[in-house]
Amino acid sequence: MKTQAKVVVIGGGVVGVSALYHLAKKGWGDDVVLVEKGELTSGSTWHAAGLLPLFNMSYSVGQVHKYSVNLYGGLEAETGQPVGFKRVGNLRLAMNDDRMDEYYQYAATARTIGINVEFLETADIKRLWPLCNTDGLVGGIFHPDDGYIQPADLTQALAKGARNRGATIYRHTRVMAIEQATSGGWVVTTDKGDITCDHVISATGNYARQTGAMVGLDIPVIPVEHQYIVTEPHPELEKRKAEGLPEMGVLRESDGSWYLREENNGFILGPYEKGAPACYVDGPDPRAEYELFQEDLERLEPHIEAAMNRVPAFAEVGIKKVYNGAIAYTPDGNPIIGPAWDVDNFWLSEGHSFGITAAGGAGWQLAEWIVEGEPTIDMLGVEPRRFGDYATKKYLIEKNEEAYSHVFIIHYPDEERPACRPLRTAPCYERMKALGAVFGQKFGWERPNFFATGGMAQQDDWSFRRSAWFEAIRKEVANTTANVGLLDMTAFAKCRLSGPGAETFLDSFVANSLPKKLGGIGLCHALNQAGGIHSEFTIRREANDAFYLVSAGALQRLDHDYIRRCMPRDGSVEFTQLTGAIGVLVVAGPKSRQLLERLTDADLSNGAFPWLTAQDIVVGAAPVNAMRVNYVGELGWELHHRIEYQNHLFDALMAAGSDLELQPFGIRAMDSMRFEKSYRMVGTELSIEYSAYESAMDRFIKPDKGDFLGRDALMAWRERGLDNLLVTLEVHDVADADALGNNALTRNGEIIGRATGGGFGFRVDKSLALGMVRPEFAEPGSEIEIEILGQNHRATVIPDSPFDPRNERLRDVIGTRD
Ligand SMILES: Cc1cc2nc3c(=O)[nH]c(=O)nc-3n(C[C@H](O)[C@H](O)[C@H](O)COP(=O)(O)OP(=O)(O)OC[C@H]3O[C@@H](n4cnc5c(N)ncnc54)[C@H](O)[C@@H]3O)c2cc1C
Repeated sequence: MKTQAKVVVIGGGVVGVSALYHLAKKGWGDDVVLVEKGELTSGSTWHAAGLLPLFNMSYSVGQVHKYSVNLYGGLEAETGQPVGFKRVGNLRLAMNDDRMDEYYQYAATARTIGINVEFLETADIKRLWPLCNTDGLVGGIFHPDDGYIQPADLTQALAKGARNRGATIYRHTRVMAIEQATSGGWVVTTDKGDITCDHVISATGNYARQTGAMVGLDIPVIPVEHQYIVTEPHPELEKRKAEGLPEMGVLRESDGSWYLREENNGFILGPYEKGAPACYVDGPDPRAEYELFQEDLERLEPHIEAAMNRVPAFAEVGIKKVYNGAIAYTPDGNPIIGPAWDVDNFWLSEGHSFGITAAGGAGWQLAEWIVEGEPTIDMLGVEPRRFGDYATKKYLIEKNEEAYSHVFIIHYPDEERPACRPLRTAPCYERMKALGAVFGQKFGWERPNFFATGGMAQQDDWSFRRSAWFEAIRKEVANTTANVGLLDMTAFAKCRLSGPGAETFLDSFVANSLPKKLGGIGLCHALNQAGGIHSEFTIRREANDAFYLVSAGALQRLDHDYIRRCMPRDGSVEFTQLTGAIGVLVVAGPKSRQLLERLTDADLSNGAFPWLTAQDIVVGAAPVNAMRVNYVGELGWELHHRIEYQNHLFDALMAAGSDLELQPFGIRAMDSMRFEKSYRMVGTELSIEYSAYESAMDRFIKPDKGDFLGRDALMAWRERGLDNLLVTLEVHDVADADALGNNALTRNGEIIGRATGGGFGFRVDKSLALGMVRPEFAEPGSEIEIEILGQNHRATVIPDSPFDPRNERLRDVIGTRD
């Protein structure tokens, strides 16, 4: 057995083997090893139904799936190993208008990433699926390019492709321990000997948590039971075959939560049931290969009935076999593909619930990341660091069961899932609830999305179109603009970097110049090595050798792990995690100064406390780091305070603000206001797929300040020319649906870009979107089209920041010349 390798892949399911194949394809074949404790495919892979659905609402997962389906189409020709890929297509049915809206929103994403989708009327459905009863359908969509595959054959083909390029596979070899080597790499101890390597990839399916525990990681994966039924042959299917008719596509009735396909002249029915239990919560037995569970037909019953209604022929066949196996899940149902946190060179491709579909793309991106240092597509949707340490075992059980039962629900853009909530609450949570807050959850934190006032029901109203909360946020925006609003941003990620090396490190880490004066604030971006934007930080200089960093709450683990990776390891920089210790209340609006003046002795005038500066002051009786910045474009302060003072601060503000019309506002109002200011957000407008110049962040990039992470690549990218530019769009003739992001932008029917986000701007009274377009269309005045829920709308490129373009409100210099 080899004792040295560049990479050891653990796990010989389709996911691990695909990673091996892609590493070998990148030229590392002689140096990559895969170890599997049983046979290849003896985990989840052998019993998968082999469906390859391209449909996915996530931009990252969509790209991953698309790559896989393309790859699998050519594998047999490449390796000589048949993979049983049947490109029969796949139909998704819609039984209501919201479902059709979901399909329209999905189709726009699909269009921007180059996936073929056709819309169907009931007559088309009948033509494609003659055995389908079309009663109660409002339409459907068809993917002509996907279908299903034989998972074991696919894995063998990938293994063959990897071996042909020099890769080594050890079967019946179990990893017992993984330890950090003094060289910085890893020592992987197996029952057949040790392998020292630079990188480890964990692709261990249902064993993910056990593998993670070997290196101290709590991996957010717990499987759920998943069943499918194989039936006896049906005469009608036999007849169709005898007549030489083509196999019908995979049929999905999303509203009944099941799929159906042909199999040996019979059917396979796969439901996603409510109440399917988490399994292997403490990990499977090491010898659980090929394990299946007792079937639970009672749980399947509603779906069987729904399928019988839709396809009466299904009612006429006997059940041959029920497969009930463990399917790996994460809290949001998407896999985790990428680097682990807190340790170096440990990679995860785990939590795959559509692993046959995702394996190709997951292996491709992992190999890019490991060999080239960066992925080539935006992987935020599958990033392992999108969860935090709140994802404990109990949380995972509840959330993963929920994610499983939600596979086929309508994926509303404003959906908030209920399981395991509330979990992380700011101290003022109950106070906000009493004021009508309707909460959402981010990174485990409860945050008010909006406030139900004036007799409105204190509940959410999800839709692809404007819904009940639209009027609530109109009121919140109006009050914040006319008076003063209060927003809880306690969920922000916060940390401090200090020590003699802090300034030098930070300066080399971010593209902007650091604030020079004590109390100065800068908006700074950490790029990736290729010149795309990885992270965004608001940085306050606290001392000559100390900086306070604030970034998006949802990205805490990602941003902080990125800092840790890039930080010097010589002790010259100290990282202090502050997220849980510090709360943030934002006061914003023209009366915010008047409000705070009632509670502090500090001089808050423009001269004494200018925009983009911070001071430690006392508000009420609470010590506060007051930062004169906000994300809504009004005069205002973020009050960062030790968490134990929050309720004192909250009460003091509310009491002092009652005659100033102080009212709370939520994240959705903030989001509407940020579009009016063209403020970008990481994960949408800011991404590693776009250079920082494409995101039009020029004023935050200081190439002349000296070297910084990604600088040379960014300069080379600019030299090569930019493919995109970020623009603000006014969308015309909108009745009830604004852009949601991932909308196709076109000119004369040709795709010229994609919207990254959008919403209604109440202060400018316009429907707005932000989007990436080819540079020749980026000039203000440029007329293009945007597709929103299947309708094309005229859109005009307008100058950035349609609301208060000169930032007079933020700077509080309204009407003055400066
Ligand atoms: C009933 C059912 C139907 C499904 N249908 C579909 C479908 O139609 N389409 C689809 O895309 N997906 C489907 N899936 C999901 C799919 O099966 C999985 O996503 C996929 O197989 C995951 O592959 P994997 O390589 O991650 O895991 P696995 O196939 O489980 O492989 C992990 C491997 O790691 C090995 N291993 C673990 N620990 C160690 C160790 N310490 N040392 C050495 N080796 C180790 C295990 O032995 C195992 O072979 C289905 C799942 C189920 C349960």
